[in-house]
Amino acid sequence: MTTITRFAPSPTGRLHVGNIRTALHNWFLARKSGGKFMLRIDDTDAARSKEEFVDAIRADLAWLGLHPDGEERQSDRLELYDAAFERLKAAGRAYPAYETSQELELKRKVQLGRGLPPTYDRGALALSDEERAAKEAEGIAPHWRFKLDHEGPIAWEDGVRGSVKFDPAQLSDPVIRRADGSWLYMLPSAVDDIEMGVTDVLRGEDHVSNTAVQVQMFEALGASPPQFAHEALLMGKEGKLSKRLGSLGCDAFRERGLEPEALIALLARLGTSQPVEAISDRQALVEGFDLSTFGRAPAKFDDTELDRLNAAIVHQLDYADVSARLPAGMEEAGWHAVRPNLTTVGEVDDWWKLVTGPVEQPEFTDEDRAYLALADEALALAFAAGADPWGALTATLKEATGRKGKTLFLPLRQAFTGMNHGPDMGELLPLIGEDEARARLASAAAA
Ligand code: GLU
Repeated sequence: MTTITRFAPSPTGRLHVGNIRTALHNWFLARKSGGKFMLRIDDTDAARSKEEFVDAIRADLAWLGLHPDGEERQSDRLELYDAAFERLKAAGRAYPAYETSQELELKRKVQLGRGLPPTYDRGALALSDEERAAKEAEGIAPHWRFKLDHEGPIAWEDGVRGSVKFDPAQLSDPVIRRADGSWLYMLPSAVDDIEMGVTDVLRGEDHVSNTAVQVQMFEALGASPPQFAHEALLMGKEGKLSKRLGSLGCDAFRERGLEPEALIALLARLGTSQPVEAISDRQALVEGFDLSTFGRAPAKFDDTELDRLNAAIVHQLDYADVSARLPAGMEEAGWHAVRPNLTTVGEVDDWWKLVTGPVEQPEFTDEDRAYLALADEALALAFAAGADPWGALTATLKEATGRKGKTLFLPLRQAFTGMNHGPDMGELLPLIGEDEARARLASAAAA
């Protein structure tokens, strides 16, 4: 059987780290077994769903390189939900209820006051035909609940949590359809998972009790439930998933100049027993993906770890991978010279100015000015000597002046780049070129 996974975001906002992680893991699961990864847009909530977010979800997945093998939209599939609903009604598994939200709230308060769990008391099931007819005659349209089967436990073998059991009598019959005919999440999702042939549902542990209900829906609709796995949720460094992190959209990571591979390397292994490493080889991550390595404790998402991974990934990027994003005139040698100094590719422009100039030099002491004048004289020979003018220049100056270490190198670096640190001078000097390098030495010596 082909593995079919799905990522089912509601288009009510941008994808945040938690969503991205769920999408990624479903993509891994499908890719690892040569299966399919489907995008399902959960847009039954017409008031909150927005087309701009549908577009943003597609764009974010494309940026992450998580290309779906197909896309469905719940708003296009309402007939399927109607058909399933009719079947549930005919089987006595969907029933009308008339309580207002205030009445339900009051019932909950009374139950809690008595120390009872606030499960729905099935008051609507106790209504006689006449009582129902009277409600309808009063113009009260019903909402609809799914009738849980209270027999026996609901049980499944969870890909992350192991054996999970629920007593259905402890759960409320969930509302599946509102009085205005619109759908709540629960039934359409189960119907789609059946119709789309979804074999594996991998999602956050906030859905565990939904799964208990949906297991019974699958069965009521004559389907066997898919394989379920529920991941521990992500937390911020400070303990819980902070507002900032929870609302940090994928666009924020893009704008920060992060590589999608950094986010992916982090989210691939966060919360697992495998070490988080700067792995940019997607296939290696796919092959290493293994639900049995996932822990039950909430995974801590650390933004500084993301920056660290990003830098490490940038340091591995080949010229061919980034050439389109580099400043004009920057070739492979330039990329290699500057790359180790970058934490994001976007910083390359500033570093490249060290080559193209102008550079702002510090004030030099008289002694250093004399030294730099000497360097100016030695420079032509150093360039004439071959491919390593920096090596030749510093060797000559070391011999001529007896300087070594910092006193030998630093005034030169400062004169050439205006900085105390930066790219390897051996790589940088040939890129600056002889004429420009001489001009910089001359101005430093003269200042
Ligand atoms: N739209 C639901 C959500 O975003 C989907 C949950 C599921 O994976 O079934 O929470």
